[in-house]
Amino acid sequence: MTSPQPHRPVGNRALAPFGTTIFAEMSALAVRTGAINLGQGFPDVDGPPELLDAAVAAIRGGRNQYPPGPGVPELLEAIAVHQQRFYGLSVDPGSEVLVTAGATEAIAAVVLGLCEPGDEVVTFEPYYDSYAATIALAGAARRTSVLRFPDFAVDEASLRAAFSERTRLVLLNTPHNPTGKVFTRPELDLICSLAREFDAWVVTDEVYEHIVFDGLEHVPVASLPGMWERTLTISSAGKTFSATGWKVGWVVGPREGVAAARSAKQFLTYVASGPFQPAVATALGLDDEVYAGLSSSLQRKRDLLCSGLAAAGLPISHPAGTYFVVADAAALGARDAMTFCRELPERVGVVGIPVSVFHDDPEAGRTLVRFAFCKRDEVLTEAAERLARLGG
Ligand code: PMP
Ligand code: GLN
Repeated sequence: MTSPQPHRPVGNRALAPFGTTIFAEMSALAVRTGAINLGQGFPDVDGPPELLDAAVAAIRGGRNQYPPGPGVPELLEAIAVHQQRFYGLSVDPGSEVLVTAGATEAIAAVVLGLCEPGDEVVTFEPYYDSYAATIALAGAARRTSVLRFPDFAVDEASLRAAFSERTRLVLLNTPHNPTGKVFTRPELDLICSLAREFDAWVVTDEVYEHIVFDGLEHVPVASLPGMWERTLTISSAGKTFSATGWKVGWVVGPREGVAAARSAKQFLTYVASGPFQPAVATALGLDDEVYAGLSSSLQRKRDLLCSGLAAAGLPISHPAGTYFVVADAAALGARDAMTFCRELPERVGVVGIPVSVFHDDPEAGRTLVRFAFCKRDEVLTEAAERLARLGG
């Protein structure tokens, strides 16, 4: 049979540049080789027992049918209380919160809900991989400003140059994956002032909001003067409660922004995670020590892996938050991080993620590798010993 359009590729051309995600490729490589997986960012222990018990109770208690479109009432309420408790933000659970299938769907719902073809989205590179694909699916164009190793500071001139009268939104991520950077207050002020000047939304991905180190405080963009009205904040239970497979995320912001995201979301999944939603509501209300314990435990893990990388002769960027540290493999003679990462499991039995895949500028992250430290101490110690062999 002949194809009606022989020259047209089968897939949606907007997705053609993205191939298979690096996380799928590298996790499959870890399974195939038996290497320690410091690639995809997921913890290897469970989160608070109260969270797990609440999910079991919800499943046993019959909460297994479609939840309401915006989210179950107790989770909407718990998210609003969380924003007040940690950031002093007063949020209406009925109209200013939307529960999504993880932060990934929140990003998609916001971008698809706000952008039309021809609009532009400003973001920083390296960026979380779903940003680029989602912007492309919306028919929008991305305009990036590069954060450069080792301090990953915002470059004002290139950020300003990324804005235009077509800018619909700025997609920001702090604490930042893959760099571990926490944006400074002057950097946030600059982003906010450009957003105001160009009348753009700020969409801020804060999934690592509770994973900041060395006494630093996470500053939500929505809490900055005059920013609530143009800011949509995204977060997720995955990182805060070490349950990345649950996929419970949310969007918080002014009513009309949340409504725009809701209109897209209802045709993406409609709803998700029925029994996990009440469980996350329970977890959000846990004591301060649970939140503090998460960041202090990850800070110790950061230090463990960073000293291992230093001993291996790898220069690193000191992470202020997240699960991740970026190292420069050029010091070990690597010329390109993708090749280095594909060979690393065979060489020493460790998997990392090449930062180059999160860049538009092919030179920017050429030799940089991201390692995740959200693993048990003994796993990190073993990984550090293996990496040290690279130097020898
Ligand atoms: N944003 C960032 C910056 C992430 O690192 C991740 C991955 N965990 C996500 C969004 C997606 O989060 P979720 O698993 O809740 O969809
Ligand atoms: N957020 C995780 C990371 O950056 C992985 C998410 C995914 O597999 N898409 O490693």
